Amino acid sequence: MQPSVIETIGNTPLIRLKRASEETGCEIYGKAEFMNPGQSVKDRAGLFIIRDAEKRGLLRPGGIIVEGTAGNTGIGLTVVAKALGYRTVIVIPETQSQEKKDALRVLGAELIEVPAVPYRNPNNYVKISGRLAAELARTDPNGAIWANQFDNVANRDGHRATTAQEIWRQTEGKVDGFASAIGTGGTLAGVADGLREKKPGVKIALADPMGAALFSYYTTGELKSEGSSITEGIGQGRVTANLTGFSPDFSYQIPDAEALPIVFDLVQEEGLCLGGSTGINIAGAVRLAKEMGPGHVIVTVLADYGTRYQSKLFNPAFLREKGLPVPGWMEKEVAIPV
Ligand code: PMP
Repeated sequence: MQPSVIETIGNTPLIRLKRASEETGCEIYGKAEFMNPGQSVKDRAGLFIIRDAEKRGLLRPGGIIVEGTAGNTGIGLTVVAKALGYRTVIVIPETQSQEKKDALRVLGAELIEVPAVPYRNPNNYVKISGRLAAELARTDPNGAIWANQFDNVANRDGHRATTAQEIWRQTEGKVDGFASAIGTGGTLAGVADGLREKKPGVKIALADPMGAALFSYYTTGELKSEGSSITEGIGQGRVTANLTGFSPDFSYQIPDAEALPIVFDLVQEEGLCLGGSTGINIAGAVRLAKEMGPGHVIVTVLADYGTRYQSKLFNPAFLREKGLPVPGWMEKEVAIPV
């Protein structure tokens, strides 16, 4: 029996990815983070950040947790906050999927939608959330904290202490490589820390979407971006505190045209309905497997559940508008026998 929803976060299964494994001759596994109670890998960050703030004595009963998020961290924080008696105020760019906004409202987060503007703009969602947290800390009788997932290293430390150790145990120490995208960098840098401590030769790969600047940073030293991606929750333009001192062994830039067919095939062939960032992650794992050669064990992250993107990634009209190919099965209608 689980004493509360919090104990259901983490310890997610590793699932063998059939097509990716067969295509490369490696064993490629996905860590099933969509099975967390908030349906994403960010439940972990929510839990690590709240527990860390409690340890530091920063949170009082009824206190407010403020965060700027593409959605999943807000969902993770809210699930944990509700179970522990806190409130959440979530600042989200209006471009994020309606399903994530709906989930946040259903879970009881106080949601503030703001226009999507770059980080250098003072009205960027992350900066607004920081200012709001400072104001609520001053004015609310129960106080407030800023979760600050990008620069709060409780995020990276938590992945080092849990996700990496789980991968190590679940592969019985056989893991040879790990690949994932970066949103905050907590997952990739934290898992890299934990696995490199166990096995210094383990290979760590960044799978960067188009429009992000870290592929360029890790290959040329310059933060530069080109193109764009419909994936959400990933694609970073700066070196966050969670990335300090981290560098991957390999960096790949993954176009949506490479990642999305993987997402669509997973639904049809493996019963796994997952979000767009998972397609980038698996494409990165496949490239790493090809780089390392057959016979290796590679792990990646199944970051969140696909129904969260029904109105976008799984919507033929949206895909067409973005100039992306629409898989035939998505439009096939079953005729009703008369
Ligand atoms: N995939 C999805 C769907 C996400 O929401 C996030 C986090 N924003 C990530 C991947 C990346 O995780 P991290 O923040 O640990 O880099």
